Amino acid sequence: MRHFAIVGSGPAGFYTAEALAKDYGENARIDIIDRYAVPYGLIRFGVAPDHQSLKAVAKRYDKVAESDNVRLVGNVTVGSDVGIEELAAIYDAVILAIGAPHDRKLGIPGEDLPGVVGSAGFVGWYNGHPDFAHLDPPLDGTHAAVIGNGNVALDCARILSKTRDEFQGSDIVGHALDALDRAATRTVTIFGRRGPHQIAMTPKELGELGHLQAASPIVDPADFPPPEADEGLDPGQRKSITILREFAATAPDPAKPKQMIFDFFAKPLRIEGEGRAERVIVERTRLDDGGRAVGTGETYEVPASLVVSAIGYSTPPMPGVAYDEAHGHFLNDHGQISDQLYCVGWARRGPTGTIGTNRPDGFEVAEKIAAQIGQGGRKDGRAGLDRLLESRGVELVTFRDWQKIEAAEGARARSGSPREKFTSIADMLAALG
Ligand SMILES: Cc1cc2nc3c(=O)[nH]c(=O)nc-3n(C[C@H](O)[C@H](O)[C@H](O)COP(=O)(O)OP(=O)(O)OC[C@H]3O[C@@H](n4cnc5c(N)ncnc54)[C@H](O)[C@@H]3O)c2cc1C
Repeated sequence: MRHFAIVGSGPAGFYTAEALAKDYGENARIDIIDRYAVPYGLIRFGVAPDHQSLKAVAKRYDKVAESDNVRLVGNVTVGSDVGIEELAAIYDAVILAIGAPHDRKLGIPGEDLPGVVGSAGFVGWYNGHPDFAHLDPPLDGTHAAVIGNGNVALDCARILSKTRDEFQGSDIVGHALDALDRAATRTVTIFGRRGPHQIAMTPKELGELGHLQAASPIVDPADFPPPEADEGLDPGQRKSITILREFAATAPDPAKPKQMIFDFFAKPLRIEGEGRAERVIVERTRLDDGGRAVGTGETYEVPASLVVSAIGYSTPPMPGVAYDEAHGHFLNDHGQISDQLYCVGWARRGPTGTIGTNRPDGFEVAEKIAAQIGQGGRKDGRAGLDRLLESRGVELVTFRDWQKIEAAEGARARSGSPREKFTSIADMLAALG
């Protein structure tokens, strides 16, 4: 019997478990360990609450968790409740699937002012993440700004622009829904250092902005290269640019009180204000021959009492685990960190790709493990982990417990919402009775 520990119950952890279960069948026991009492990582805490169809992927993970040779071990933090070296002594292989939960810093003056928040915090707030439920972002000003040109930036800008009615059917947490409903926000400016051709926004997410109840997307036609330049783009990117060109060609709807302004070729230099964010000082940029943004020296200011930075994430280093400082994830060779130690998902390759991108990633590492480790083995596996956790008084949460928490969240949902999430670990555990 082989014993595997997967640290992290997000998509990468589950795809790896699925692949290992397939490779080993009855000859392996797989524990998926997560710091929270609720599984699925960014499916629960990252993916936007108004994108419920995407969250349905968790049903596939449920099936994996329900198989006899896979166990979910929630409410256990690797690094404090149990160490990596301890896991390596108990299991035949340890696979780190801990994602990339830390916001990359802007590195500009003023980023520590109240009112400046990272997207991990802002997204966590509206998704009920226990670490960010009390973020209370300032929504009393008419102007907000989002820094970044990827889908996460779009999520943040869209959530700030939607009406209460438009959250019907979503699982946005009640505190965020009420605060957004009361918000004074009228203008959301989305800053990108480069131009429309360099965005990392996908067509579906961009297209949604054309159909918002109360907000119009605004794009400056002067920011585009000549239309024939679009021909060299890959099909997905060309679709996105076509949508942006449509926004640029459409006058804002006077019946809609809110605006989402795409400010391209705009590099935030600093954030200013009296004791809180009030404005972003921005430098106009242009592209150099290598496609990099270079400052033109022309500066201007944009009012913003809430500034959300959405410029990427990094994986926290772990003691004794090789780390790639430049890229912000574990140092690895096709998923292998060292003997017995592997990584998958965002912890392996950084915060890129979709949920599905993590699948081949997990399958590749599972294959590698099967080839290197093979069958047999004499490790203690889950019995060893249980002994260790019991001796430390750590109360672990199983998949059955999670189903109880999920049922309790469903039972307290407001009308039209699939669930009202618990936003503290204590409330999650209390739901277990
Ligand atoms: C805001 C946002 C929106 C997104 N929207 C979409 C979308 O609409 N569509 C799409 O395809 N993709 C989307 N993505 C990308 C998608 O969420 C990722 O590709 C995917 O979640 C990465 O999977 P992962 O398993 O590597 O990391 P995660 O999903 O982050 O999972 C990591 C897990 O590890 C656990 N963990 C961390 N540290 C420890 C520790 N020390 N001990 C124990 N457990 C630990 C965490 O609790 C978490 O459960 C979005 C990402 C973000 C940030």
